Amino acid sequence: MTTSPDLNAAGFDSLGLAQPLLQALADVGYETPSPIQAACIPVLLAGHDLLGEAQTGTGKTAAFALPLLQKIDLKRAVPQALILTPTRELAIQVAEALQKYAHHMPGFHVLPIYGGQSMVVQLRALSRGTHVIVGTPGRVMDHLERKSLVLNNLQMLVLDEADEMLRMGFIDDVKWILEHTPAERQTALFSATMPDVIRRVAREHLREPQEIKIRSATSTVVTTSQSYCQTHGGQKLEALTRILEVEDDFDAAIVFVRTKTATVEIADKLEARGYSVAALNGDLTQGLREQVIERLKAGTIDIVVATDVAARGLDVARVSHVINYDVPYDTEAYVHRIGRTGRAGRTGRAILFLAPREMYMLKLIERATKQKITALTMPTPGEVANRRVAQFTQQIVDIIKTEKLDFFFDVVRRMEGEQDIAAREIAAALAWLATRERPLQMPGANDHAPREVAVAPAPTFERKERKPAGAKPAEDFSAAEPRRERPVKEGRSDTPVKQRSFTPGALARYRIEIGRNQGVLPKEIVGAIANEAGIAGKDIGQINLFDDYSSVELPANLPADLMDVLRRIRVRQFALKTRVMEPGEFVDTRPPRRAPPARDGKKPDWKKPAGAKPEWKKRER
Ligand code: AMP
Repeated sequence: MTTSPDLNAAGFDSLGLAQPLLQALADVGYETPSPIQAACIPVLLAGHDLLGEAQTGTGKTAAFALPLLQKIDLKRAVPQALILTPTRELAIQVAEALQKYAHHMPGFHVLPIYGGQSMVVQLRALSRGTHVIVGTPGRVMDHLERKSLVLNNLQMLVLDEADEMLRMGFIDDVKWILEHTPAERQTALFSATMPDVIRRVAREHLREPQEIKIRSATSTVVTTSQSYCQTHGGQKLEALTRILEVEDDFDAAIVFVRTKTATVEIADKLEARGYSVAALNGDLTQGLREQVIERLKAGTIDIVVATDVAARGLDVARVSHVINYDVPYDTEAYVHRIGRTGRAGRTGRAILFLAPREMYMLKLIERATKQKITALTMPTPGEVANRRVAQFTQQIVDIIKTEKLDFFFDVVRRMEGEQDIAAREIAAALAWLATRERPLQMPGANDHAPREVAVAPAPTFERKERKPAGAKPAEDFSAAEPRRERPVKEGRSDTPVKQRSFTPGALARYRIEIGRNQGVLPKEIVGAIANEAGIAGKDIGQINLFDDYSSVELPANLPADLMDVLRRIRVRQFALKTRVMEPGEFVDTRPPRRAPPARDGKKPDWKKPAGAKPEWKKRER
């Protein structure tokens, strides 16, 4: 496929990287360097030391890994580069990234070494020879002391997430390692923040480092309404399709991903789920790119899955939604992305998917866009089913309004007579037939019918079946809102949870992500917390319900393992995602509990004034 020159003008090939690395980047579908990569790669290739201020998610791994790989002499199986990481997980992740980028470097070896793994295994692997070591400071120190790791040939040393190493108490080990490696090595230090201690390490151990900090976008006021949905890799596609189904005013969407490969992969998956969709990436010729945009404008496709570069400047008025499927590298990219909606005076909507470890981006984006980003929970199958039924009902209403149906009335009447089946059964069978391609029932939703749906009133029609007077209102068909009122155990085992005991003391306010709109009752919250986390009812204080969240008083300073349980508990299928509320975050908007004067000697009337919002409910004990 021809590559459009304007899209790749600032590509990896202009940074001085060698062909095998460029080939690997093409394989993984990276289209352009992220800002930190564009800034760091030439500096490291030129041999300078580097002090980089960058968070996870900015692409910092490739920023040091690519130049590091370029300098490796494959013929010498001795450690030429050492990368120190704070955790074993990060060590493995970085080693995997190196392996991926070195795909076209035959014979390349990288070895992760970390505490907790058998020494014997590590000693054997080290003795076989390796080009790069990625390790946690303690274990690297152990091997250096035992002389099982010899760094005489070390060319490059990278400290990844230095502030994290400081926080975890590894800084002295790091300094020790710096002192026991060849002084002429090249050093790169990456840190999300630059506390004084880290600056001091840099001053003492780096030689005239070039400082690179990715500037964040100057703040821009945006008119687009923004939400985020906390989700992780495996759930993203499901979250995307459910959100697209329940969003109001959906017309067309741009779904942003990071790689060319992902544009095609996600577009294919959406197509398989029935969407009209196309991929837009830097591999497309200018002509094909324009074709995709024309089709989006004309409405022959509704979704474009794009990389940042390919969607740059895209201006299509009907784009109602921007979905940040993969988080952008920085706030500037985010602002560009969401600028693709809300065009031509229309209102736009932006939705951001964030994995738990990417949550730090939220505050940065809020600051850059000067706007609050509201939380959005993945719609439940019940909610999606309700929306589908609402749309289907509306279609029926419209057809009854606009189409001539006399012939079909006769068909139905004949069926009723000849087959002895009721009109309702015939209608149900027809509904099944009409929705076979896009079933009204979602897997996981209740088997029965949907919640009462808001559609335009059906036109009166001579022969329409009328609801008998006093008929029951429509059932709630949604699985999302069970009617039972007992504490919900939500599919967990019935093994009793160990009861925790707390010394009576201060309570703290915790936020949970379920509220009035999700139909939760205080006793369900108490039940779930008591049953799942083993916190006795006496240790649970006041519960306040707000529209989309609630606050619960629980013992202060809960241990991490318990917080973990509390985060994962589900009530009415919503994960509580429990966290401590920040000072000032809780605003008690309930009406003052002052009784109106007693009338005629009767008891005071404690009823809540109508319309008070958010609703406050006293806990039922
Ligand atoms: P990091 O900040 O190094 O943890 O990288 C975050 C994610 O971004 C990883 O999943 C990388 O594979 C991805 N990534 C890094 N650089 C690029 C790039 N230039 N284009 C697309 N994806 C990238």
